[in-house]
Amino acid sequence: MLIFYRDVHQHPGISAMEERTAEKVAAHLQRLGYAVHTGVGGHGVVGVFDNGLGKTILMRAELDALPLLEETGLPYQSKRRMIDHYGNERPVMHACGHDMNMATLLAAADLLKSAADQWKGTLLVVFQPDEEETGGAQAMVDDGLYERVPVLDIMPGQHVVPDRAGTVAIRSGPVLIAADSMRIRVIGGPCEGSINPQICVDPIPLSMRIVSELQAAVVKEIGPEEDATVACWGFHAGLPGNDYVAYADILLDIKVLKPEIRRRVLDLIRDKFLHDCRAAGAPRDPEFNTTVRAPLTSNDAAIAGSISRVFHGYCAASLVNMSFTRATEDFSTLGAAHNVPYAYWNFGGMPGDKKAPLPTNHSPFFAPEIDLTLKTGADAMALAALTFLVT
Ligand SMILES: [Zn+2]
Repeated sequence: MLIFYRDVHQHPGISAMEERTAEKVAAHLQRLGYAVHTGVGGHGVVGVFDNGLGKTILMRAELDALPLLEETGLPYQSKRRMIDHYGNERPVMHACGHDMNMATLLAAADLLKSAADQWKGTLLVVFQPDEEETGGAQAMVDDGLYERVPVLDIMPGQHVVPDRAGTVAIRSGPVLIAADSMRIRVIGGPCEGSINPQICVDPIPLSMRIVSELQAAVVKEIGPEEDATVACWGFHAGLPGNDYVAYADILLDIKVLKPEIRRRVLDLIRDKFLHDCRAAGAPRDPEFNTTVRAPLTSNDAAIAGSISRVFHGYCAASLVNMSFTRATEDFSTLGAAHNVPYAYWNFGGMPGDKKAPLPTNHSPFFAPEIDLTLKTGADAMALAALTFLVT
């Protein structure tokens, strides 16, 4: 797995452009003796191992990397650059550790296949594209994933994090927050009755003011005790050669813990843009496009409890506390249509001798310690699957 890990790390693919990685994964699964489906929802790969009557377990890893310049200095660091969907040339790096997640899943698939006489059931080993921009899980389902493979019963999932290598952490209930993306176009330019656009509403200061007031408006309306945040992660306005600004495009990231609060926060943002643009005399109402970036990831108590007990029995000394984090995931989408119970846990990847602060996921310095991390992740995933497969 070491060779696979270093190769995939050195040759990453950004979201929905993971063709090379998917080919490597599919070839490896074929060598392990899994039936392999490719091109599911983009570059998605699924390995199936039917081992008789029993539960169907879906285990998943992500194929994609991030548009970041790697600064780890490792001998196998990525030097790859790609043209992204927006036409920009970008550096590419496995800064979230999806290369480690893939290597541990392939190692677990190998372990479980080798121990096939010890259990009964079906394994679905899913390598999902496009997790970072979070559309890949839904794309796989929409592309007929469950017309090609059996519908799953239970879904264990894991991710490498900057805890000490050799540790695992699991809990019941919410583990990762829900997020929406909202794209808003604030319109400026010629107003009613005017023929001179440059003396009318300028969407840049108007949009800047609204954006800077959003978080305070959410706290005031929803209450400071609720976990609800709005962040602006894109602002584009003005075109070369134009003497006035016709529109400003704003991209918001909205994170909310409770599903019942989510609708109120989205409505509040929309209402504020509408109200403030009308009050400023904008020639037209703003345009809105909201997409679900990731649902809430909330572990099923029974599934998480069963896996936790197995981890306790096998590696009690390695168990550390798992806290709710404000990162996002579309992992649960793979089972959402069938209400499949799931549990998602973390395994540590950082060398024990390194001092804090350690580089976290999405840092250009993110560099998991390989051997112990790989072993821990592979063992954790295989144990979690066996929890529900052993007859
Ligand atoms: Zn990730």
